[in-house]
Amino acid sequence: MQQLGRVGKQAGQRMATAFVQAFYNARVKTSNSEQEASRPPILPLPDELISQIAAGEVIERPAAVVRELLDNALDSGATQITVRLQAGGVRLIAVEDNGSGIPPEQLPVALQRHATSKIRTLHDLESVTSMGFRGEALAAIGAVSELTILSAIANAPHAWRLDARSGEMQAAARVQGTSVEVKELFFSTPARRKFLKSDATELAHCLEAVRRHALARPDVGFTVWHEGKCIEQWRATLDMNRRMADVLGEDFIGQSLPVDYQMQTAGGLAHIQGRCGLPDHARSRTDRQYAYVNGRFVRDKVISHAVRGAYEDVLHGHRQPVYVLWVGLNPLRVDVNVHPTKIEVRFRDSREVHQAARHAVEQALAASRAAQAGSGVVLPPPAASAGRVASSAQQTTVPGVSQQYRMPLYERASGWPSRPSQLADAATWRVQEQAGPWGASAAAEEQTAAAPDHAVEAGLPEQPEPQDWPLGCAVAQIHGVYILAENANGLIIVDMHAAHERVVYEQLKRQLDVAGLATQQLLIPATFAATAHEMAVAEQYAHALQQLGLEVSAINTQTLAVRTVPAPLAAADAVELARSVLAELAQYDADSVLQRARNELLSTMACHGAIRANRRLTLEEMNALLRQMEITERADQCNHGRPTWRQFSMQELDALFLRGR
Ligand code: ADP
Ligand code: MG
Repeated sequence: MQQLGRVGKQAGQRMATAFVQAFYNARVKTSNSEQEASRPPILPLPDELISQIAAGEVIERPAAVVRELLDNALDSGATQITVRLQAGGVRLIAVEDNGSGIPPEQLPVALQRHATSKIRTLHDLESVTSMGFRGEALAAIGAVSELTILSAIANAPHAWRLDARSGEMQAAARVQGTSVEVKELFFSTPARRKFLKSDATELAHCLEAVRRHALARPDVGFTVWHEGKCIEQWRATLDMNRRMADVLGEDFIGQSLPVDYQMQTAGGLAHIQGRCGLPDHARSRTDRQYAYVNGRFVRDKVISHAVRGAYEDVLHGHRQPVYVLWVGLNPLRVDVNVHPTKIEVRFRDSREVHQAARHAVEQALAASRAAQAGSGVVLPPPAASAGRVASSAQQTTVPGVSQQYRMPLYERASGWPSRPSQLADAATWRVQEQAGPWGASAAAEEQTAAAPDHAVEAGLPEQPEPQDWPLGCAVAQIHGVYILAENANGLIIVDMHAAHERVVYEQLKRQLDVAGLATQQLLIPATFAATAHEMAVAEQYAHALQQLGLEVSAINTQTLAVRTVPAPLAAADAVELARSVLAELAQYDADSVLQRARNELLSTMACHGAIRANRRLTLEEMNALLRQMEITERADQCNHGRPTWRQFSMQELDALFLRGR
């Protein structure tokens, strides 16, 4: 049997080998002779085709033309730019600027591939601060459209018009500056043209390209026309808030917080400015995330990941924050030449950029609105925002692009509005100074550290009038869920569990950071019948538990005893608390648990420590909670990203009752 089997296998192998050999021989024979006859020779591509292929990298749709022409206009020093579009940019894209103009003898050169006035040497490339530098945009656009350039330099008797296709130059009339006209995009490459979407979609992309540039350069005025109608007009301004309100809508300012942060890095100062959206105004898409590196719009993973991290504590699920962030870095620390459309960059040290961006946004978010509610400076929506924009417009706030490294225009005048002082009344301001609404002030830190669970009693300044407290004075509790309070603006409604959860969570975090969690010994240890799994986790994680302020030990093989709890959670159900922490701990590995899951664990604990629904609170307790909220970072959201309070202004209440109409 064995013998037969072996013989059979060998025969089969032999057959297979013979078959493969025959097949191979046949193929080699035919392909040799066929190839002699049919293999095309290697030939250089005609110039026109090279340009069209190269254009594919840079110009994928009308919006890309808009982007490149705007880059050029900005590089020329323009202060006013007009974009005219027809049929979503497919039939016509014209960009007109009042910049330097191009001298007539250089007009034809501008159309050549790899011809640029912006860099000369490798050294220039390393520290490039212009938007363009590859010298290929005009050539690429010219290869796939009917392109004309009309340009006049200063003091020239007249302008010149160059037709890219024919190469003809003609004298023409124009004041100083350049107009580039791009007609019938992709007319010679029907395959590409077929991939274009509807005019409306292409128009939307074109507008987005203009928005990106407009947010980068508020000092430049922009006008956009479509089919002969003016559809956008943004005046030049030095006030970044004004430009953001123009481009992103008046509401944006009221729905976002100012960011202004500097960090010393190996390559000099990193400066991050802008605004980041309030967590309640997060979106389901990433469409309102504008990040700039040295004035260049980028899609950058380092920055977006850093921002995401900063929102971790206040945004739930897959909600996407909105933001406009200008990152200013030493240009030597950024390589902008890594992507044909320059939309990606590479940082010399991405860690430092990540850190700076994360801290910048964290700091902005930490400044809770709860501390400012009464001041009239930053109200939660839907309060009117137009007034706010107007008031900040009076300050000459200044663009957030690497001031040190860019044009003198970008000098810093007074910085971002960083103190609510002008508008806040004296009493509110006193509280704010104590409480540090713009991040934890030393005073607030000390206070909370000194008396963690009774921060309020720990001695705020002498009591201002109840109405002057930002979150006002408690008047009632309804359905065991909400606290109603009256402040200078009107009515405040607080979700008491959500708010207290945040207060406790922040206390736990701060204590753990500063000196480890203070613990409270239980007079009578709380015991419970534990599962085998809980017994095992309690033993394995004894150290981590202790660091979290929980002493949990076995009394016998089936019973665990909780002997201490963190002081801020003294009122919590010790058994419930221990059980949920044990359940959560089991998901991590013992060594790094506190590094990796610290916030998750503390958040779980805070939930147990926070007052539950249906607890009746006295007015004193309610007021104590309001005062704690005012000095707690991120107090506007609970740990799961839901809002903790809302303001209803008197106007809104009046409107509800049709008063004064
Ligand atoms: P790049 O911008 O990378 O230099 P482009 O192909 O976009 O390459 O432009 C080529 C050159 O034409 C630029 O370097 C610049 O000197 C000139 N140029 C283009 N557009 C303008 C403009 N609007 N104003 C002044 N010069 C321009
Ligand atoms: Mg260019």
